[in-house]
Amino acid sequence: MPKKINVTTWNEEDVNPQYQPAYQEGMNNAFAAFLKDDEQIGTFRTATLNQPEHGLSEEVLNDTDVLLWWGHIHHQLVDDAIVERVRQRVLKGMGLLVLHSGHASKIFKALLGTNTEQLRWRESHDRERVWTIDHNHPIAAGVGEYFEIDQSETYGECFNIPTPDELIFISWYSGGEVFRSGCTFKRGRGKIFFFSPGHESYRIYDMPPVQRIIKNAIGWAAPVGYPDIAYNEHKRSPEAIYLGHE
Ligand code: ZN
Repeated sequence: MPKKINVTTWNEEDVNPQYQPAYQEGMNNAFAAFLKDDEQIGTFRTATLNQPEHGLSEEVLNDTDVLLWWGHIHHQLVDDAIVERVRQRVLKGMGLLVLHSGHASKIFKALLGTNTEQLRWRESHDRERVWTIDHNHPIAAGVGEYFEIDQSETYGECFNIPTPDELIFISWYSGGEVFRSGCTFKRGRGKIFFFSPGHESYRIYDMPPVQRIIKNAIGWAAPVGYPDIAYNEHKRSPEAIYLGHE
């Protein structure tokens, strides 16, 4: 049986009806509702901005295999030292799911190196059609050719990200825009998945295909284990070891 995946979800606030109008229970609780009993998940934690160290202590991060990041209006309040701590943890292998307006977070920008807050956006209740591009990717398993979100916040190109390692979903909106709504990046040993559906005014996280994608992405982003590599001087070459030389 594979090792269980320890998941932490991060959000700016526990509960704020004005800020998350469709999620009166708070965004972290919306994630908890479909993740905490997921059988691939071991320890499930939530963390918020107002906690000490934003809930992301060394201890928590070192015990987190995949971190979900949903931020919206307080990106600038996230401490740079915590951002760097998360970045280092990703470089060492922790998976990171950057969700919806998390595209403008400090951590996404720090890992990707571009101005990822730059995109077209509009709140006009557009219909979003999410097309699967990479049908044989584990994150797309069970999703189908496409699915529709009746009302969504429009995100459009040009999205200022580096060319993704993998483009898994592209969204079309009834206003005419298109958007790279699901893509992956690798930084160091860490795997990163960005997924844009998840606006705070609609219950998009209740939708089965969206929940499926997030669960799939957690499984994909979890570290698979790797040897501890010592990055110091190696006095003996592998060939010298093979030949038995001192
Ligand atoms: Zn939004």
